[in-house]
Amino acid sequence: MSKGNIGVTSDNIFPIIKKFLYSDHEIFLRELVSNAVDATQKLKTLASVGEFKGELGDTRVRVSIDKNKKTLTVSDHGIGMSAEEVDKYINQIAISGAEEFVNKYKDNVQAIIGHFGLGFYSAFMVATKVEIFSQSWREEEKAVHWTCSGNPDYEMEETIKAERGTDIVLHLDDENLDFLEDSKIQGLLNKYCKFLPVEIVFGKKKEWKDGREQETGEDNVINDVNPAWTRTPADLKEEDYDKFYHELYPAQMDEPLFHIHLNVDYPFNLTGILYFPRIKNNLDIHRNKIQLYCNQVFVTDEVENIVPEYLTLLHGVIDSPDIPLNVSRSYLQSDQNVKKISSYITRKVADQLADIFKNKREEFEQKWNDIALFMRFGMLSDEKFYERAVKFALLEDIDHKYYTIEEYQAAVKDNQTDKDGNLICLYTQDEEKAYPYIQRAKAKGYNVLLMNGELDVHYISQAEQKNEKLRFVRVDSDVIENLIRKEDAEKTVLTPAEEDALRFSFESQLPKEGTTQYMVSVDTVSSDALPVFLTQNEFMRRMKDMSAHQQGMSFYGQMPDQYNLVVNAAHPLVKDLLQTIQTALADKVAPLDEQIAAKETEKEQLQAAQKDKKQDELTEEEKNAVTEVTKTLADLRNGKKQLYADYAKENKEISQLVDIALLASGLLKGEALAAFVNRSVSLLGK
Ligand code: ADP
Repeated sequence: MSKGNIGVTSDNIFPIIKKFLYSDHEIFLRELVSNAVDATQKLKTLASVGEFKGELGDTRVRVSIDKNKKTLTVSDHGIGMSAEEVDKYINQIAISGAEEFVNKYKDNVQAIIGHFGLGFYSAFMVATKVEIFSQSWREEEKAVHWTCSGNPDYEMEETIKAERGTDIVLHLDDENLDFLEDSKIQGLLNKYCKFLPVEIVFGKKKEWKDGREQETGEDNVINDVNPAWTRTPADLKEEDYDKFYHELYPAQMDEPLFHIHLNVDYPFNLTGILYFPRIKNNLDIHRNKIQLYCNQVFVTDEVENIVPEYLTLLHGVIDSPDIPLNVSRSYLQSDQNVKKISSYITRKVADQLADIFKNKREEFEQKWNDIALFMRFGMLSDEKFYERAVKFALLEDIDHKYYTIEEYQAAVKDNQTDKDGNLICLYTQDEEKAYPYIQRAKAKGYNVLLMNGELDVHYISQAEQKNEKLRFVRVDSDVIENLIRKEDAEKTVLTPAEEDALRFSFESQLPKEGTTQYMVSVDTVSSDALPVFLTQNEFMRRMKDMSAHQQGMSFYGQMPDQYNLVVNAAHPLVKDLLQTIQTALADKVAPLDEQIAAKETEKEQLQAAQKDKKQDELTEEEKNAVTEVTKTLADLRNGKKQLYADYAKENKEISQLVDIALLASGLLKGEALAAFVNRSVSLLGK
């Protein structure tokens, strides 16, 4: 027997292993099984080059637990180690840079946890004592038994081991006895070892028999040694890709939309398959994540720092030994290899989509709604992707026809260019709500786009920025004649008195409850537009829409909704109404108007007389005179407003028109809606 001291010259690696790796200690299993797989593959290589001439025999790696002895064992029939090799690879861990490693990462917990390849010693995260039994593939070598109890001292002795290969036996410490549970180990093997290239066995297969689960005689192999991404695309059918998708995400019911097989070996090595999932709602998005593997060993499903954020909407696997795993996250983002990998994936994704668009347009259109969110997100967040994607990103109109932006511009250019040369794209976020407006747009031969996707408002802003003469307006944000102005309409001008009559009458009948704000404007729009309608400022509404899912925009989110009630003085109904109001109130308004006119003149004269004097040169009397006349004027005007309000209150037609405008914009609710219904019935009566 020989004794020795493990070659770490700084304090010792064990406390660090125990302390810092604690949160991630389950990875010990991944490390030990990977070592066993490596040893097995090395032997296979030796056999293939003729150096090892014996029987390979059973090459499965086995993981087993002994609940009585509180041990967990990983066994392989790989190349094994001689005493000399144990000394070199296990004892002298300083050789593999452990000392340097300890010094470097002492203060960086994150990096230690992220370190991949701490390897064999990670066993001490869960074990008080670790034993190695190993028989080298070189038959002349004696088997070796190594023991270490979590301190720098080890013991090594010769032993007898019938079979070639290595058994690593972990005597679990009391805090980690949960690793003796079958379900726990099965779960971990599923997570980390599901696609390792050598068969891993854990216990026996079970089956339901006589009403209970019973063990069969067959080994329970937990992994698929030839996962789809390691095979050549030519050997795989569509079904194979779908099957693999379900292997990756057993809980996922839907089939993926399309897949992309990644395969590159220069200037970095990367294989993988990415899938476009069917995204039904927000909850689904991050349920299944892209999994990162390193030579078929699962590393993580947190790939945010390796691929651009929008690509994390995809599913699938990426396998690359060239992604540095023992570095901090911020470093990862600036790593050149990672940058190249990221842009390679972006390019491949764009290539694939472009290809489907070009060769299978119909299929692309059918799947468009499922990939739209991904496309918009990508175009908004990655300029490179935008440049590619703009050629095949689609717009959908309300008749479910699809266009690229270029196709769309060509299609509507003739009819939808306004007098200033802007191409106006009309859109709706809610077909049902905007129905009357859509009908009016259609009657003019205009096309209306459907923009109800989550990122569509952002997309619209982007499209406007990229195309100088392109404007998007929501079809119900104004009357159609105003949305696409063809020529300056000849306006019949109302007198101020006529405008006042309409404004004051309608203003008095607008809803006053709630936070929504209404204003009235009188305009001679067109005789075939609605008599009264609401408009909403496109910019403000968009800002509010965006604020719903963007930080730092809550300013807009808190602003009240604002609508403009347009009274269309060109409409015959409104013309008639104006007549009626003026006739009814002529006797009362005329004397008021005279008084107002008189007071206005008085005020003007006062101001004219004072205009050359400075404020402090004015006498108290002079100042009071202006204040007085201003107040009287205000009172008179309010009196006039009140006259119209009192009249409007009794005039069912005005309330009816206001309510129709509110109704057309989906804003008539509750008590107001009930009043409208009752009034409508009574208006039908005699
Ligand atoms: P790494 O695997 O990153 O090299 P480890 O600490 O896990 O680091 O292992 C150190 C070395 O010990 C390995 O490179 C290998 O040579 C040897 N080794 C570990 N486990 C086995 C095993 N099961 N069979 C044969 N050799 C092994």
